[in-house]
Amino acid sequence: MKAAVLKTIENLKVEEIPKPVPSPGEILIKIEACTICGTDIKAYHHGHKHIRFPRVTGHELAGEIVEVGGKVKNYKLGQKVAVAPAIPCGSCYYCRRGMQSMCLNLKAIGYHYNGGFAEFMVVTEDAVKNGCVNLLHSNTSFEEGALAEPLACVINGQELSQIKLGDTVVIVGAGPLGCIHIQLARVRGATKVILIELSSSRIDFAANFFKPDVIINPSCDDAISKIRKETQGRGADKIIVACPSGKAQEDSLKMVSPRGIINFFGGLPKDKPFIKFDSNLIHYGEFYVVGTHGSAPYHNKLALQLISSGRIKVDELLTHRLPLSKLEEGIRLAESGESMKVVIYPVR
Ligand SMILES: [Zn+2]
Ligand SMILES: [Zn+2]
Repeated sequence: MKAAVLKTIENLKVEEIPKPVPSPGEILIKIEACTICGTDIKAYHHGHKHIRFPRVTGHELAGEIVEVGGKVKNYKLGQKVAVAPAIPCGSCYYCRRGMQSMCLNLKAIGYHYNGGFAEFMVVTEDAVKNGCVNLLHSNTSFEEGALAEPLACVINGQELSQIKLGDTVVIVGAGPLGCIHIQLARVRGATKVILIELSSSRIDFAANFFKPDVIINPSCDDAISKIRKETQGRGADKIIVACPSGKAQEDSLKMVSPRGIINFFGGLPKDKPFIKFDSNLIHYGEFYVVGTHGSAPYHNKLALQLISSGRIKVDELLTHRLPLSKLEEGIRLAESGESMKVVIYPVR
């Protein structure tokens, strides 16, 4: 089969490798769509502590079941599925308490196991058993199925941020994840969604498709005082910092309402992970700072329901479509900021 094999850092080759054979507890799927994620870009440039080379990356994927191991129940040939890439063990301290994304034995597709930038992928027994393989609804495309993964991370983020009816929510960053956050905040009942973004092309894109109530460009406006003005001086109830900026995290501490919640949803670069802040802001404001980064299999199932029902639109985010042979071009497009989501079609 054809696969994009990351041999070492920045050495990606599209080549023929043996088609994997599923063992009795496994499923083989033909990959119909795999979207490029920020973490694929990081793995390409810097590797990852869980990646041993050579590795096929790609974890936002959907496809069709083409082989089912003899021991597998509940799945059959021809079913269209999305696969949640973070595989919990189901039995550790956190799994037993319903916090699968914190699993002590977490394995991930595209990291520990080969992922979706290939014509076929084996779904391992642990993934099959722990609810990672979810059927696509009949009105859902493969591309939308692949985008259930970032939506699942946004759902986890907003659950822990407790976004609810009547909230004023600030989303910092209008990348693909920020755009999904805007939509989900509305679905959860936020009555005012404020977007903060520096790039004018991203502002135009978000304004056109997702219509935040207020848009602030910090290069022309003082974001902190503007947020205060929009909230009668209180600050925002919830803030999601969906960009890798320490400055944005520091600023968010000055924009939040007393007893509000801030989510550091975007991780900071490895070489710049520190921020500086006045700890008395938290002491007197009694607000909460949470971070989230992944999702659990049930978030993926929920994501597919939200996509199928039309409550969340992910297809607008797909700006570029490429064959597997152009994966490197896709990575460059995704990191340049010219694109929103780039989808790779391994079998087309
Ligand atoms: Zn991802
Ligand atoms: Zn576990």
